[in-house]
Amino acid sequence: MNLFDVYPLFDITPVKAQGAYLWDEHGRRYLDLYGGHAVISIGHSHPHYIKRMARQLYNIGFYSNSVQMPLQQELAEKLGRLSGYEDYNLFLCSSGAEANENALKLASFHTGRRKVLAFKGAFHGRTSAAVAVTDNPAIQAPINETENVVFVPLNDTEAFNYALEVHGPELAAVIVEGIQGVGGVRAPEGAFLKEVAAGCERVGALLILDEVQTGYGRTGKFFAHQYTDVKPDLITVAKGMGNGFPVAGVLINPGIKAKHGMLGTTFGGNYLACVAALAVLEVIEEEKLLDNAQRIGKRLIEALRQFPGVREVRGEGLMIGVDLEEPCAPIRKQLLTEYGIFTGSSSDKNTLRLLPPLCIGAREVDTFLSAFESVLHTSTIQAN
Ligand code: PMP
Repeated sequence: MNLFDVYPLFDITPVKAQGAYLWDEHGRRYLDLYGGHAVISIGHSHPHYIKRMARQLYNIGFYSNSVQMPLQQELAEKLGRLSGYEDYNLFLCSSGAEANENALKLASFHTGRRKVLAFKGAFHGRTSAAVAVTDNPAIQAPINETENVVFVPLNDTEAFNYALEVHGPELAAVIVEGIQGVGGVRAPEGAFLKEVAAGCERVGALLILDEVQTGYGRTGKFFAHQYTDVKPDLITVAKGMGNGFPVAGVLINPGIKAKHGMLGTTFGGNYLACVAALAVLEVIEEEKLLDNAQRIGKRLIEALRQFPGVREVRGEGLMIGVDLEEPCAPIRKQLLTEYGIFTGSSSDKNTLRLLPPLCIGAREVDTFLSAFESVLHTSTIQAN
């Protein structure tokens, strides 16, 4: 059997990883400024994480959600404390799409309504409800097509309020990313997000903050929306939560309830998933990774803004979009093949995305900046 051909691949085979670095089978080292798409939060193969996971696997790795698992409660409490959402409840599942799927379902159960307002450029996952609120018809199969989703331009208050006037009484939820990731690192403005929260309250819709990519300190605060005082009804998390082990969750306002059986999943919240998520939180706290993301992010963003060939630098903390004057694919390729540096793309062909592990330091930043400068310089010479 061959693999189903769905991913464009780099011709690289990583066989070992540590901190912000990967090694291929020939022993060549790569600097990872992509984190496997924002998944590696505390750094690859962190010793504390390895120890916690190995010990757990040795004792018990899995049983179904039909027994008491104090680890789940421990995780909920620790996540509540570090994120500032101690009064919320936690539903555990295994991927970002699944978290959004469940948040949308909960909003619909809670309100008895079926419509959702989402934003142009949004990416929320590939399962049926999640892909329906994703602004990309190319990844929607006919079975995903629905009349229930209204798309509005991000940061357009007038369009948002107009959509609320028309659809308000039928809206179960408004879903918005902390910062749009796949869409090219585009943030909702603070004032706009406040307007969205107020609008939701006015029409009785729930506000879902998709923090799948932005959560867990990526932007220098635990959640990106915490740069404002907006408090969403539902918050979805995944990616950095498990540092590579599949674990995700929905943080749920205590006023929202579900009857037994309404939600469920076989793998969600298993022993290993909980221990991975706990180990990540422990390292984030111990190593003050939020402060590091803020400090190093600022340094990187400020330096990138000085580069000729860079049109705009967007983002917060260690979620950075670098808008170039030319398509970024050849530049990313050259960074990888000549300098051994992994970077990310976005749906905007000129926007390169940086999503490094939250533990990177000044040395890694300087390595990247000098490589990036050389690559931009050669591409300018070639263009002229
Ligand atoms: N929401 C956002 C904001 C994302 O960036 C992604 C993944 N790129 C998802 C949801 C989907 O997550 P997963 O791939 O784990 O289903």
